[in-house]
Amino acid sequence: MARRFHGPSDLHLHSDHSDGTEPPAEVVASAHCAGLRTVALTDHDTTAGWAEAADAAVSLGMAFLPGMELSARYEWRSVHVLGYLFDPDDAQVRALTDRIRSSRLSRAREMADRIGRDYDLAWEDILAQTAVGATVGRPHLADALVAKGFVRDRGEAFADILHPGSDYYVDLYAPDPVTAVAAISGAGGVPIIAHPAGRAGLLPASLVDRMLRAGLAGFELGHRENVEPALSRLRELVAARDLIVTGSSDYHGLGKPNQPGEHTTSDDMVARIIDRATGSTPLYP
Ligand code: AMP
Ligand code: ZN
Ligand code: FE
Ligand code: FE
Repeated sequence: MARRFHGPSDLHLHSDHSDGTEPPAEVVASAHCAGLRTVALTDHDTTAGWAEAADAAVSLGMAFLPGMELSARYEWRSVHVLGYLFDPDDAQVRALTDRIRSSRLSRAREMADRIGRDYDLAWEDILAQTAVGATVGRPHLADALVAKGFVRDRGEAFADILHPGSDYYVDLYAPDPVTAVAAISGAGGVPIIAHPAGRAGLLPASLVDRMLRAGLAGFELGHRENVEPALSRLRELVAARDLIVTGSSDYHGLGKPNQPGEHTTSDDMVARIIDRATGSTPLYP
């Protein structure tokens, strides 16, 4: 098949529809400045930024893949499922993201209440850091704490006040990873596990098997949070099973040091994602 896109490709970028600090068009412009020519927008639990990002990408001569980073949890650890080219109107996906997003809102309010007992912080301070309609998360609480001068940056907030071990921490609802993978796959999308070899270590092989049976397509092996020896183990798995491998920045604007294009995905792998998807189509210049 003739390819209507070419790299460099970065398939994991966040806008202010979740916890990035730039609107979608600016995210795409930042990616273009970094030399990228194919991008995906992957905000947490929302597809609201797709149209703006697609328009910006096409007008800059870039290809655009609609995406999302769906929140999931296995036991105590959070698992992020990147979904590409799924149908954004699929009932199952909508039900999951609606439930996660409403849980995120009540959880953020509860965390703000708890923090407000010890710090001069009110819900309005968090709202001031959150774009209207955005998927709210701890990064917005972090930004409010920075704005109030209680911490220097998001990293410092996450290391202490917002840490899961903190008394201020509240869990959010998130589906189990097999359910999340099955939802993306069922909506015609391509599910890829984000940053799968972080410091928490690999997910159990039995869970990976169940995710593969539910339609898991591959792993994001190029990501600054992946570490050895977990990374090498996953390289063996993807080679043995001929899975899709991606590499991406996980850009969050000023919210993280990650820069667009610091990891990229090969043209062959982008083509495999596009060929496998049936839920929606890429946009081309
Ligand atoms: P939440 O899903 O609301 O619990 O927040 C987790 C999000 O915060 C993740 O998606 C990360 O992108 C972001 N995050 C986690 N740790 C940090 C950190 N140290 N600095 C900035 N952002 C972080
Ligand atoms: Zn994030
Ligand atoms: Fe993530
Ligand atoms: Fe991310």
